[in-house]
Amino acid sequence: MNSPQTSARTGTVYLIGSGPGELDLLTLRAARLLGEADAVVYDHLIADGVLELVRADSQRIYVGKETSNHTVPQEELNLLLVRLAREGKKVVRLKGGDPFIFGRGGEEIETLFEFGIPFEVVPGVTAAAGCAAYAGIPLTHRDHAQAVVFVTGHLRDGTVNLDWPALARLNQTVVFYMGVGGIDEICRQMINHGLPANHPAAVVQNGTTIRQRVLTADLASLPGKVKAAGVTSPALIIVGSVVSLQQKLQWFKPETTSSNQSNRQ
Ligand code: SAH
Repeated sequence: MNSPQTSARTGTVYLIGSGPGELDLLTLRAARLLGEADAVVYDHLIADGVLELVRADSQRIYVGKETSNHTVPQEELNLLLVRLAREGKKVVRLKGGDPFIFGRGGEEIETLFEFGIPFEVVPGVTAAAGCAAYAGIPLTHRDHAQAVVFVTGHLRDGTVNLDWPALARLNQTVVFYMGVGGIDEICRQMINHGLPANHPAAVVQNGTTIRQRVLTADLASLPGKVKAAGVTSPALIIVGSVVSLQQKLQWFKPETTSSNQSNRQ
């Protein structure tokens, strides 16, 4: 509970991370709250089957975003949560992965705070953790990486405006969210800022699901390999020598059916 202005009839908003895609990576807490919710406001990157946990009589509102197609403007969405809570509803705002990692969760609850709406945040398994685990790429390892950086590779004006000298370091792992569209630029900049062209790098598409695909290569050859394979969103780029462990540590065998090649959007 976060504000003294809250009236007894105002509902609470639960900002919930639904994990990276595999349904049973959802937390028990998230599952319980989904079953209790009067209204669920959800994005497109949520696990298949997650809405089946929602009560049949509860209101479901899709506000999915795709990079070039913002279904509901953020401002409007923030106010929608306020309105639903003021109707006295128990509202679940469901997001992919973790709500505080590239999920705009902070912006949404800032608005709730301003309007005196009570809220709680339920963490989820973020895509980097889920993809790394299911691909067999430990994000840190005593022999390879003492640090891991999560960064957005989302293109603004055709360039990725990042602190390249800080990212292009040997003893760390860098995970790019939303980076597939900018993969040429990302790999080029990592090499230009000092990493060897043969530094290991991977892409994980639809991580943790039966449609997971993992491509491993190096900075020089990854973009070509990704294009040849037709990788689309959602996918993560992982750069670091930990990627070299993947061949040994991969354990997850997604089904080799035709659905393996499709993506989740
Ligand atoms: N809040 C989310 C991230 C939202 S940004 C989280 O914590 O995971 C959306 C980006 O996350 C996608 O563009 C992609 O880079 C990544 N992503 C989400 N789910 C993924 C998955 N199953 N496999 C690979 N990447 C994924």
